[in-house]
Amino acid sequence: MVLKPASINITISLPKISIDQELCTGCGICAEVCPFGIPQSTDNGKFKIYDVDRCTECSACQRNCPAMAVLLQERKGCGCLWDARARSKNPQSNNCCG
Ligand code: SF4
Ligand code: SF4
Repeated sequence: MVLKPASINITISLPKISIDQELCTGCGICAEVCPFGIPQSTDNGKFKIYDVDRCTECSACQRNCPAMAVLLQERKGCGCLWDARARSKNPQSNNCCG
């Protein structure tokens, strides 16, 4: 008799935005450009996303991070600060850069 391993389905849901702690240098630019100040510094001097639900996925933090440490599942904005500000007033806004 041959036993086959049972198949296992694992679903992993990633947060819509996170910061790679290995890459983050703690420069703080992401917190400066985010219209909501969502990236916050931690005890080790690096930055993390604590309030994921408030993120509009404008991508300003990702676009301006010099270490490419910001991980966005879906980029909804073009990443410019004008767009980030517009999304802070209306997350559905999509009227930047044409
Ligand atoms: S901009 Fe990038 S490297 Fe700088 S604190 Fe934010 S995530 Fe870290
Ligand atoms: S994607 Fe935009 S709203 Fe979300 S954390 Fe980055 S700058 Fe802030």
